[in-house]
Amino acid sequence: MAPYATLFTKHKGSVWIVPPAGAISLIETGTTIERESGSRRHVGFARRVYHKLLLVPRLSSSFRFIQGDYATVFMLHRFRDGESGRTGLDSMQLRRGLEHLRRNGYELVSLAELFRRLAEKGPRLRGAVAFTIDDGYLEQAEVAGPIFREFDCPVTTFVTTGFLDGTVWLWWDKIEYVFSNTRRESLSVRLGETTVRYHLNPESGKSSMSADFAERCKVVDDEEKHRAITRLAQEAEVDLPDTAPSRYAPMTWDHVRTYEAQGMTFGPHTVSHPILSRAQPAQAIEEISESWHRLQAEARYPVPIFCYPNGLDADFGDREVAILRKLGFLGALSAEAGFLDPASFQQGSDGPFMIKRLPFPEELSVLAQYAGGIERLKHIARRM
Ligand SMILES: [Zn+2]
Repeated sequence: MAPYATLFTKHKGSVWIVPPAGAISLIETGTTIERESGSRRHVGFARRVYHKLLLVPRLSSSFRFIQGDYATVFMLHRFRDGESGRTGLDSMQLRRGLEHLRRNGYELVSLAELFRRLAEKGPRLRGAVAFTIDDGYLEQAEVAGPIFREFDCPVTTFVTTGFLDGTVWLWWDKIEYVFSNTRRESLSVRLGETTVRYHLNPESGKSSMSADFAERCKVVDDEEKHRAITRLAQEAEVDLPDTAPSRYAPMTWDHVRTYEAQGMTFGPHTVSHPILSRAQPAQAIEEISESWHRLQAEARYPVPIFCYPNGLDADFGDREVAILRKLGFLGALSAEAGFLDPASFQQGSDGPFMIKRLPFPEELSVLAQYAGGIERLKHIARRM
């Protein structure tokens, strides 16, 4: 048994961990800060100690026995790329994360390998880690690709095929572009059954208004979403370019083939990234099947695993699973938070089509908590 795994009990949202050598430590797990004794200062101190402990070489990975048959599938999106103005995860944070996982002996496996092991019921997952990237932005190839290669770490990128074909750019980027470029001081736009209004004074955050409009777009029909974005651009007096400006640019199919040769694999993520549950039945079929056909035509080793746009439970359903099954997919990934385990994989016939993931965290200590079994320990403790 690992040296620090001696006693776990639940205590008001915290987990007490008692190292065998004495020196009892409270390890604050970061959600509920509520204790009978001790001030906020003490809690802050405990949290800092906890985050430092997680980075002690091999300490966090000592809890990996808790992962047992579980694996962690990390989900990544955009990466910072200074010259182009692209924002997202700093490449140094990705490098440090991969370095941590390699140094601590984690098994880094491809998504296809995880599915194969689960389908064949072995070998056990034992805390293996897989990486996925969503959408198909340019810097996902140019910035992240070389880093994953440097650490010999498999990664599967899910591409929005119309985006790579240059026929669409991603709808939430259009919204951001409009808010960033408008000179209007206020906007009033009809969206579904309501009219939304924004006052764009210099102090107000355009990015939060853009995010608000995008969130509202997720709960209307896909056609209405596109109409509303067109109305937004008109109201804002902003011309939307036909293809994505460089800040929002896609990778090319040549990138796909180049990075395939270096170990990256690719799966389909629809043609235009609609929320499938908001699409008409014929559109849902077309979005899934056409993106798979385009990927098969352009990539050498297309992965028959799908990734749902937006990916929360409300964003897809039985209809999408049936389409995927008919097309011969092995399964699909959601964006619901959780680990991958044999029980959920084998749960009914839909198990492989409801695979959960975890967002790749910016903080190294949180990465250690997720991959190292402590996050699982928290889940177990909450159920006690
Ligand atoms: Zn996506």
